[in-house]
Amino acid sequence: MPQPQLVDSLVELVRRAATILPDDMQQALDRSQGQEEPGSAAAGALETIRLNVKMAGERSTPICQDTGTPIFEIFHPLGVSTRALAAQMREAVAIATRRAYLRPNAVDSLTGKNTGDNTGEDFPTMHFHEWEEAHIHIDLLLKGGGCENVSTQYKLPDGGLGAGRDLDGVRKVVLDAVYQAQGKGCGPGVLGVAIGGDRGSSYLKSKQQLFRSLDDTNPDPQLAALEEKILTQANELGIGPMGFGGKTTLLGVKVGAQHRLPASYFVSIAYMCWANRRAAMDVHFSGDAVEVTYA
Ligand code: SF4
Repeated sequence: MPQPQLVDSLVELVRRAATILPDDMQQALDRSQGQEEPGSAAAGALETIRLNVKMAGERSTPICQDTGTPIFEIFHPLGVSTRALAAQMREAVAIATRRAYLRPNAVDSLTGKNTGDNTGEDFPTMHFHEWEEAHIHIDLLLKGGGCENVSTQYKLPDGGLGAGRDLDGVRKVVLDAVYQAQGKGCGPGVLGVAIGGDRGSSYLKSKQQLFRSLDDTNPDPQLAALEEKILTQANELGIGPMGFGGKTTLLGVKVGAQHRLPASYFVSIAYMCWANRRAAMDVHFSGDAVEVTYA
């Protein structure tokens, strides 16, 4: 299989993620502003956010000064060199940083020195998945740091919250996480929640939920019902955008589950801010020709 040269296309993927908020997010923000009291702090915050999103899209400038951790999820057929793809993604991120689509965000954890181009040890984040399809699909999420600081993990049972090892226990700890995050993390937020796994796999799965569209429906009816319930109840807490009070605390809740050891029951919550920046591209092959499309 020919190894595609995708650096330019990947730079464009980064530009789109950094400067254009996905349609489902924009529509959710539009709807939310309409639900808030006219003239309230909540309505004002949403109006400012929406104006900011509009200007960023029109000017191709970053939606937020915190351009976040680039997280790539790559789905590829047999025969694609993941080493070559990883090198191209690092190069694309460095170019996108030079073009100011991304702020230099990669800092050496021991020295505090910024590499200046968003590359470093395990930075950007990349996860490769071989699949049955003949094309490559790449998802990119730019994960802000402020909201990452309020991401959290619980282990059930949790006596203090009266949360047992069942979906109602999951609901209780997720609502506690929303309550604890109030005023932080740049709400209104979107939650990626994972049930099960070990501590590491649970956090990873929670973050992968953030790639889902706000409008999708969980194929598992129990999880679909849980997503709806948490969303409704979180928005009844009155926390509101940026913690100013109001009806819009969350814009979406996405829950996934995975197997776990009988001894453990982890619930991980990936908190995403209103700048829920994601973009995707597909790479199709036809002989030597390569066609790239964006979603
Ligand atoms: S948490 Fe989100 S909105 Fe807040 S500064 Fe970071 S990226 Fe921007």
